[in-house]
Amino acid sequence: MSATRVRMPGRRVAAAAGALGIVLAAWTGQDGGGIGGGEVDGGEEAAVVEEVLTPIVASVSTEPTPVTGTDGRMHLAYELLLINATTTEATIDSVQAVGGETDEVLEEYAGDDLLSHSRVVGEQDTGTTVELRGGQAAFVWLDVTVGNREALPEVLRHEIAVTFTEAPNPLLPAQLTETVAQTPVSDTPAPVIASPLDGSNWLTGNGCCAEVSPHRGAANPINGQYFFAERFAIDWVQLDEDMQIFDGEPTEMSSYAYYDAPVHAVADGTIVAVVDHIQDQPPGSNPAPGTLQVTEFGGNHVVQRFEQNGHTYYAFYAHLAPGSANEYVEVGQEVDAGDQVGRLGNSGNTDSPHLHFHVMDSHNPLASNGLPFVLESQKLVGTAAGEDALEAALEGEPLQLTPAGPSGEREDQMPLMLDVTDLRPAT
Ligand SMILES: [Zn+2]
Repeated sequence: MSATRVRMPGRRVAAAAGALGIVLAAWTGQDGGGIGGGEVDGGEEAAVVEEVLTPIVASVSTEPTPVTGTDGRMHLAYELLLINATTTEATIDSVQAVGGETDEVLEEYAGDDLLSHSRVVGEQDTGTTVELRGGQAAFVWLDVTVGNREALPEVLRHEIAVTFTEAPNPLLPAQLTETVAQTPVSDTPAPVIASPLDGSNWLTGNGCCAEVSPHRGAANPINGQYFFAERFAIDWVQLDEDMQIFDGEPTEMSSYAYYDAPVHAVADGTIVAVVDHIQDQPPGSNPAPGTLQVTEFGGNHVVQRFEQNGHTYYAFYAHLAPGSANEYVEVGQEVDAGDQVGRLGNSGNTDSPHLHFHVMDSHNPLASNGLPFVLESQKLVGTAAGEDALEAALEGEPLQLTPAGPSGEREDQMPLMLDVTDLRPAT
């Protein structure tokens, strides 16, 4: 979903949300602006937090849940929403995520790094700096990593360095660094699941976390709020024995040997949604804009609820072949991990056959919070050797691989962007 073609994301973050309709009133600066200044009962004094003007209002999209990637590191993938609460144009100079007892800098974006990890809401083109007009907002996509679970901070804060074209009001300087958007880090482990696919050399398209892939960049404005349902989504395509995605004409379904591959339940659970009536798209290009309703973006799909460690999760299997889900499952059916739920297809918002898979916190494929997951077992073969290698593969050339660290058998790790792994469903 969301620009489903497997590609290496560049600096341009995938299109998503429209203009944010919230425009905050500017600080007047005349009389304290209504911030603070009130009397505090003595008994409440201990609870009063020091009041600091923060002209860039910031919030996190979710309490980040750590997950181990195939690089062996713990990833915290989440988003910041920044809003310029003044009427003066601001340039965001840097964004730092800090944590731990010493407020160690765990991730920092500035310059091109900041540009490639952010998008100004309402702007079509990426500029050369992250500039926010008065009232304007921006998203920043973070991938905070630490070496192991013990090194995870309990709390993250964010230091935003900002330069205004002039001091926004008498209370504020033109340049400042503010500490904002404190969030606890979730101590819930990512669910351990079986693979939905079987076989060798599955390429992890548009996966997490370091780059803002079309999945990560999808900020869905639905039901009155932003959702990041696809934060950890994967578009899986399989390479053949010659390491080609397709062999023959890219516009022919028969060129994709993995079309119709069985798709398996990743856990024991209950089927809560089945859509199975949508025709496949002809491969080679995305459906024309406006031809799909938002509820059809996933094409034929299955949503499955499953429980783990007292938490409820929903698995989303999308773009299935027409008629394939109904052969195996119906709403309300209990399934075991490994049971077939459909076959890989090319229905919905897709330009070539692939399985879009993600885990979320509700049964709504787009109006959900995307959650991380790990595969209980997989074999890491390597990683696509850069953007040129991927582009060549998308033209039908064999995919060139870079061995990704120690390749081989992996347990309880999430495939990362452009990994090639051997997958196995539950047996
Ligand atoms: Zn997708």
